[in-house]
Amino acid sequence: MKVVLENLTKKFPSKNKKEHSEVVAVNNFSFEIPDGKLVGLLGPSGCGKSTALNLISGLLKPTSGKIFFGDDDVTTIPPENRGVGLVFQSYALYPHLTVRQNIIFPLENLKGKNKLSKEEMNKKALEIAKLVQIDKLMDRKPSELSGGQQQRVAIARALVKIPKVLLLDEPLSNLDARLRLQTREEIRRIQKETGITTVFVTHDQEEAMSISDLIIVMKDGVIQQIGEPQSVYDNPVNLFVAQFLGTPQITVFSGEIKNGGLYIGEDKVLSIITDYSGPVKVGVRPEGYIPAADGALSCNLCRIEVMGRDISVVSSNPLAESEIIRSIISSDNKIDTSSATVRFNLKPSKVHLFRPDNGERIDFSLN
Ligand code: ADP
Ligand code: MG
Repeated sequence: MKVVLENLTKKFPSKNKKEHSEVVAVNNFSFEIPDGKLVGLLGPSGCGKSTALNLISGLLKPTSGKIFFGDDDVTTIPPENRGVGLVFQSYALYPHLTVRQNIIFPLENLKGKNKLSKEEMNKKALEIAKLVQIDKLMDRKPSELSGGQQQRVAIARALVKIPKVLLLDEPLSNLDARLRLQTREEIRRIQKETGITTVFVTHDQEEAMSISDLIIVMKDGVIQQIGEPQSVYDNPVNLFVAQFLGTPQITVFSGEIKNGGLYIGEDKVLSIITDYSGPVKVGVRPEGYIPAADGALSCNLCRIEVMGRDISVVSSNPLAESEIIRSIISSDNKIDTSSATVRFNLKPSKVHLFRPDNGERIDFSLN
């Protein structure tokens, strides 16, 4: 089921009574989620992710704009009739019910021709439990399950009515690091197997990048960029997106475009062609540094951290906005650790230029 948002806006009245300003939690969202895809809605805390999700579910009513499931306008349809499955950070299972009873719960109030017999309900619950791999735990109570298992029950409960759209709001936040990794892969597998159009909300860029077909990066209620994870990472439209995606974070230098060159201080780091001239912000991804004795960019060497396959060269530069620069290079490289300086050439595809005033991307080609 394709999901379309059309100029969707949600405003909340200000909590501060003296101020009359309102919070625009979701500002004029327009996008289409293709049928059967998993979309990661990504942004820092408070940027409006949950609000956007709750508008799609129907738990919140938009201030303006429309929502379509397929060709149907569902904007005014109440949540229980939209055919959505919801999973939240807190599993919200019924503590006094068994796993089986928790999963069956949404089926029990089906009416009329949709009404199911006890046997049919048990059969459906078992099918879904097998899908999320908790079928051996059907008679346990939630308190007898690990966090990861509880979240699987919550996912099974959201799936048992075969929703048109599955909505997940930070479903992994309560799990420890290892379970988070494992459960996100599970969610991806289940989503692919069922083909249910899914929106996955997270503030964790790595989580969103690793499982999404498309990511939507938001800031302050406004969509910054929509695209395939790799494409957004490779072509960030602005400095915010460039800094939000990627670990270690992109390093930002104060630079200048002049005389056909990109300069960081006295170092001419690239020969480029662009319409822009003057001061720029230069973002360099950690994998964008090539150590070389005659490298264009000179940095002060702090230390080398061995990470096995790769090494991390930690250096500094007075024109970098951050205290340290982390360059990830193959451990085949030999770095002279007795030297106070390390020199790098920059991989052009890993260098992104932004306007210092508004952070918008500046396009360039190599000369
Ligand atoms: P996120 O899920 O990205 O952390 P939210 O969607 O929860 O962000 O919140 C977005 C903004 O809307 C925040 O500034 C938040 O304070 C505000 N907000 C959310 N819900 C309400 C509400 N019911 N009443 C007033 N303001 C709200
Ligand atoms: Mg939230």
